[in-house]
Amino acid sequence: MSDRSCSLLLLALHNCSTLCSGSGASEEDLRVLPKYRFHICKNEEKPRVGAGRMVPIETSSGYLATERILLPEDAECCICLTSYEDGAELHALPCNHHFHSTCIVKWLKMNATCPLCKYNILKGNDQV
Ligand SMILES: [Zn+2]
Ligand SMILES: [Zn+2]
Repeated sequence: MSDRSCSLLLLALHNCSTLCSGSGASEEDLRVLPKYRFHICKNEEKPRVGAGRMVPIETSSGYLATERILLPEDAECCICLTSYEDGAELHALPCNHHFHSTCIVKWLKMNATCPLCKYNILKGNDQV
């Protein structure tokens, strides 16, 4: 009898700590992520679908990002598996992976790790 209630209590505690340590990012955390706008490169001689540039958008945090060139195979959001459209807003994480800003914001609020490499944007890469 008492054994049973004890294990239930432990289970409840365990669930709570899982939820509490859990791992979503706050608006504050997301605001400092560098933001970019995607521009498709238009090269008429050699059209390479999807290839383009990520141009930094100024953010409230004042984080200075640099422009990045994307290969066609990189110009895709790994969350929704869609190629970046011209003018799409992107976020890059400290691990250099990038996604649609809407997709990664939704993801990070549930789980503050990079969907590709599990880099934790709140703690850095200290796991494992
Ligand atoms: Zn996406
Ligand atoms: Zn990553």
